[in-house]
Amino acid sequence: MLINLIGNAVKFTEVGGITIQAQVSTEFEKVILKTSVTDTGRGISEQDITEIFRSFIQTQHDKGGTGLGLAISQKFAELMGGSLSVDSNLGQGTTFTLETPITIVDEQSLPKATPERRAIAIAEGQPTYRILVVDDRWTNRQFLMKLLEPFGFELRDASNGKEAVTIWEEWTPHLIWMDLRMPVMDGYEATKYIKSQPGGQSTIIIALTASVFEHERNLVLAEGCDDFVRKPVKEVLIFEKLSQYLGILFIYEDTIRNVKTGRVASLLGINPLANMPGTWLQDLRQAALIAKPTPIFHLIDHISAENSTVAAHLRNLVKNYQFHDIIQLVDEAREP
Ligand code: ADP
Repeated sequence: MLINLIGNAVKFTEVGGITIQAQVSTEFEKVILKTSVTDTGRGISEQDITEIFRSFIQTQHDKGGTGLGLAISQKFAELMGGSLSVDSNLGQGTTFTLETPITIVDEQSLPKATPERRAIAIAEGQPTYRILVVDDRWTNRQFLMKLLEPFGFELRDASNGKEAVTIWEEWTPHLIWMDLRMPVMDGYEATKYIKSQPGGQSTIIIALTASVFEHERNLVLAEGCDDFVRKPVKEVLIFEKLSQYLGILFIYEDTIRNVKTGRVASLLGINPLANMPGTWLQDLRQAALIAKPTPIFHLIDHISAENSTVAAHLRNLVKNYQFHDIIQLVDEAREP
């Protein structure tokens, strides 16, 4: 439900921001979790507001989607004994509020979640891989592009199968992330075509599918896809598949951060920033303190090519807003 609400907020907001709030309250002995998503987007007119929870209703058709998200989310909320409501001002923004009764449980009784290993860089000495991202939705393409960018891949994107085929012909990517439902030419057709061409078999094609049906899964493989990943795409799976099919060796966060000491720079036992000049370290610390990505990226550009893993690692920290880790790295580099 939240993915849907946040997705809509992002979709319909050009300027301003999106705020997500969560609050627990007790009403007549019931504990209620109230979550709201507020945006400063285009808003919804009074007339439309009564309609948006109906299936297949879209007030604007220019942003993709199915008009099903809110209808389904509201049904889910009601099934959980809660509600989903909306408040909006046209041209000013919208707030969706989800209220669900919850039961507070003892933390000890919860199953322990195994933390997901996060890839942060590619180990040195590996080829530069060309990766093509195909999806008709800009946001989906951006998600993958932004996720893969810091690793130094060569990346291109296409918004339908036809474009994908053209790019494949001239650029021969090593791997394609292929959405299946797309206008002009869908992912099945594009995959079938590519795989039937000379050299096509050596391009790995991994389908991205929102379907949960077994028959669809079989169809995907029958059309020539090497594998598939379910949408919404999980970050870990993307890296798992890249290792599996291209043999890429990733460096994971837990190999860089020494669990015992909490020190970030334990990789190879030396601090990757140890040889950087003092003024550079000072500037980096300052930029990290005020959490400003752009100046940090400029500073990272000064890191020499031999230290590309370090640069990639830092870029990743910035992308994930881990400014604290950067500060810690700098401090460790200054006082080894
Ligand atoms: P869709 O998959 O088309 O986004 P939804 O059921 O999630 O379907 O949304 C239905 C419609 O409600 C959207 O097409 C849009 O017109 C309107 N809508 C939903 N969320 C917002 C929002 N945050 N701001 C403006 N309009 C919205």
